[in-house]
Formats: sequence, C-alpha cells, structure tokens
Amino acid sequence: MKFSPIAAVILLGAVTNPEVAAFTTPSKTTTTTRSSSLSVVDDKTEVREYFNTEGFNRWNKIYSDSDEVNTVQMDIRDGHGQTIDKILKWIETDGDIEGKTVCDCGCGVGSLAIPLAKMGGKISASDISDSMSNEAARRASEMGISEGQAKFYTSDLESVTGKYDTVTCVDVAIHYPTEKMTEMIQHLCDLSERRVLISFAPKTWYYSALKKFGEFFPGPSKTTRAYLHEEEIVRNALSKAGFEVTREEMTGTNFYFSRLLEAKRKTA
Ligand code: SAH
Repeated sequence: MKFSPIAAVILLGAVTNPEVAAFTTPSKTTTTTRSSSLSVVDDKTEVREYFNTEGFNRWNKIYSDSDEVNTVQMDIRDGHGQTIDKILKWIETDGDIEGKTVCDCGCGVGSLAIPLAKMGGKISASDISDSMSNEAARRASEMGISEGQAKFYTSDLESVTGKYDTVTCVDVAIHYPTEKMTEMIQHLCDLSERRVLISFAPKTWYYSALKKFGEFFPGPSKTTRAYLHEEEIVRNALSKAGFEVTREEMTGTNFYFSRLLEAKRKTA
C-alpha cells in the first residue's frame, strides 16, 4: 500500500479533504458519553446536516469531473471511481442486470445508481441527504434516464422497505458506529432477494493508526465522525443474515480505503 511522506503532510493538514477529515474527530460531540442508540441518532443528524450543506458542496465536486478539487480530493475521487468500476465490472461480467431491481442505499449523487440504470437495472436509490438525492435525480434526468428506470428519494437507509434483486451500499458504513453494523447489514439483507454489495473502510492496525494520527490534527472544517469496521464483523453479519461472500476487492489509494464485498443469499 502506498503512503508517501508528502501525503502524510497533507493528511496532517486535514483541512479541506473529507475522507481525511472523516479521519478526524469533530469537536462537537466527542467527549460526551452517550448510550449507543442516542449516539446513532446524533450521528445521523450530524451526517444529514453535513451532507445537506458543506458536505454536499465538497462531495458533489469530488464525485464529478469538476477541476475545483485539490490533490487529496482528486486522490479520493480516483479511489472511489475504482470501487465503482469494480462493481460495474462484476455486474457486466454477470451480464444479467437488465430488468432486475436494484436498491442503492446511501446513493450520494448517483455515481453507482446512474450507470446501473444505463445498464438496464431498475433502480430505487435513496440517500439520507435531500441535497444528495436531488442532485442524483438531476444528473440522471440530464442523462436522459427516465423516472421509471431510476427513482431517487430521500430516506435513512434503515427506513427503506421492499424487496430487490440486488442491494448496494457503497462507502456509507463509515458513518455507522460499529455496534449498529450487524443490524444495518441485516436490514440490507432483508431488502435483498439475491445479492448484497457493501463497502466499508476496514479496521486494520494501519488504518486505525492513521485515524488516530489524524485525530491529533483536526481540521477547521466541519466533518462527521468516521468509523472503521473489522471485516470479521461484516462477514459474520452477512452470514447470520443468510448470505455468503462470493467476491471481494480492496481499493486503497493514499487517502481512500475501501473493502468491497459481494454476498449472495445462501441456497438451502
Ligand atoms: N454510495 C454513494 C455515496 C457515498 S458518500 C457512492 O458511492 O457514490 C456517503 C453517502 O451516504 C452520503 O451521500 C450520505 O448522505 C449517505 N448516508 C450516510 N448515512 C446514511 C444513512 N443512514 N442512510 C442513508 N444514507 C446515508
């Protein structure tokens, strides 16, 4: 894995870059002791507010080809693009997405949902942030994708209902506290008839150290808390929900780290 000293310096700056900012601790709530359920409510309010305001402006640029991005943001764009490409490649290889229902939870600006719609998937995509889901809908319509092909709406993923062939949840788990992960994965699996695709920032000694390091240098910009997850917890949750991991990938650039798992419903 690459991690240059220059990158480390930028990391310590931790100013205008979100994923790194995601590695820093926000000043607001960290010292408060709260019960885990309360913590989730706080997390969600914070995440929603962030992605409706400053986070939207920042991520909308990162998830586009705008040149108003700094080197770190460019690196994150590249890493995220690699994760999306890996998913699209899997689905293209399978060659059976046409007409299948896909539920994209935490869809952001539609970076995955839109290409899946173009491949013929019937998409239902949602995001906790109004700004993100509206932008996704705008981008889809700009590309000539009909509302019948892809619908975008605002929802906390835990309130999403229905049954879909494939459920995707990409780079959202970073906003989820560890103790809520099993429940969250169970919910994604309940929505899925056949397949779940989930990515998360893995909790390895290296990334944990990096996160700890970043916490000493909180940037001035408003951020959300970041949660790394032990892979075993994610795998156990998938298994408990009746799914088995069928494909996996890891994407790591200087500032972007994402473990990607595809899991399919176990056949009896
Ligand atoms: N999956 C998209 C966006 C990733 S950014 C992609 O890969 O391009 C993370 C997104 O998760 C943000 O848009 C944020 O608003 C959303 N999010 C965070 N917590 C959420 C929750 N509980 N329910 C739904 N969306 C959530």
